[in-house]
Amino acid sequence: MAQFSAAVSLNGLESGTPENRTVLVVDDDPAFRYLCVSALQEAADVEYEVLEAGTGQQALDLLMSRNVDKVLVDYDLPDTTGAKLMHDVQQMMPGWLGSMVLITAVGSEEIAAEALRAGAADYIPKGLSPSEFRSSLYDSMEKAKLHNAIRRQNEDLANANQELQRRNDEIARFYHRVSHEVKTPLTAARMFMSMLHEGLVGKLTAEQEDVVVQAIESCDQLTEQFNDLIECTRLETGKLPLRKTVQSLTRVLQRSVIALKPTIEARSIRLEQCVASDMPDFLMDGGRIAQVMANILGNATKFTAPGGRIVLSANVSSALGNWIEVSISDSGCGIPPKHLPNIFDRLYQVGSGGDSLQGAGLGLGLTIAKEIVELHRGTIEVNSEVGKGSTFTIRLPMIDNNQSEVSED
Ligand code: ADP
Repeated sequence: MAQFSAAVSLNGLESGTPENRTVLVVDDDPAFRYLCVSALQEAADVEYEVLEAGTGQQALDLLMSRNVDKVLVDYDLPDTTGAKLMHDVQQMMPGWLGSMVLITAVGSEEIAAEALRAGAADYIPKGLSPSEFRSSLYDSMEKAKLHNAIRRQNEDLANANQELQRRNDEIARFYHRVSHEVKTPLTAARMFMSMLHEGLVGKLTAEQEDVVVQAIESCDQLTEQFNDLIECTRLETGKLPLRKTVQSLTRVLQRSVIALKPTIEARSIRLEQCVASDMPDFLMDGGRIAQVMANILGNATKFTAPGGRIVLSANVSSALGNWIEVSISDSGCGIPPKHLPNIFDRLYQVGSGGDSLQGAGLGLGLTIAKEIVELHRGTIEVNSEVGKGSTFTIRLPMIDNNQSEVSED
């Protein structure tokens, strides 16, 4: 795949292109124009090319035909105002990355402030002595130069961002496609393995039976991983619709527990449930919330040693009122503090502390859980202590209970 490199310098504000030193002076007073032109031409360390215009229209014509990057413009022009000229330039030349400096009458600070808010790089009041005017003009030209560099850098960043977004979408589509392509032969392989397991093509020896069971388990694990990849790309590209109906969270939790019970029992883990009896029904996508609980409970099982304990509690949050709070605590290996800020990131795995079951995931389970909870406008957080265990807390708002909905959000 082609390497992507953004042509943006993050150190300093110079964008790498040589400075354009063409300045356009716009004023209907030839004497004032002369003052500006001579001051610019006498600048000690910069050689400016100076153009002149007496009206707004002449200024626009020059801006469109010449490569100008700084405009010094009087606020009062015969056919327009400096502010209107700035606005016209933004409209007619949206890609122009130059700057304007406004010359205002004494006492027009309001106008000057408005011009700065509208995007001018600086302003110079009229009525200064020639030497004061000269030094203000040089300061303003420096500010305009910085202003241009910032605008160019913002433009580069916006382009780089757009390109990154495009690449990201491309990778997401690639994941999705590959996952789909692999799932078809994988499903077929599992089916053939099941036929062997069920003795449909002859009786197997105990040893062969054992190998076939392991092959089936590997197929199931791979299928689960590809499903996670597909889910993740659907969530990231906003293509996971929620089917919300008013339903009982207690039943949803039961479903997740029943699915995991065999694994929990096989690992001799004690599961305690403290689900409040007065839990109200509320609007949710039950299947998706069950998936969140299955991911968190699955991790608690995976990262808790045999003989450990998992506590599942759910109640209406006394602190938050109209919110449901579900927490899943385990007495497992815990998560080191330095990993906690990234634990919900895509493909993030801590890489130690579990047992052989740890390799079963891809580091997508918590990302998917977080995305689904956030699609329900809820929150998920984790507290953990190495060697003592982890607690994941999910809070879901009980909103809009009167309506069922199918939403794309
Ligand atoms: P995976 O599918 O790899 O488990 P997850 O996104 O579900 O991915 O979890 C990311 C990582 O967070 C895991 O690899 C593990 O290191 C850590 N983790 C998640 N839950 C727990 C837990 N209950 N106890 C300890 N570590 C956990």
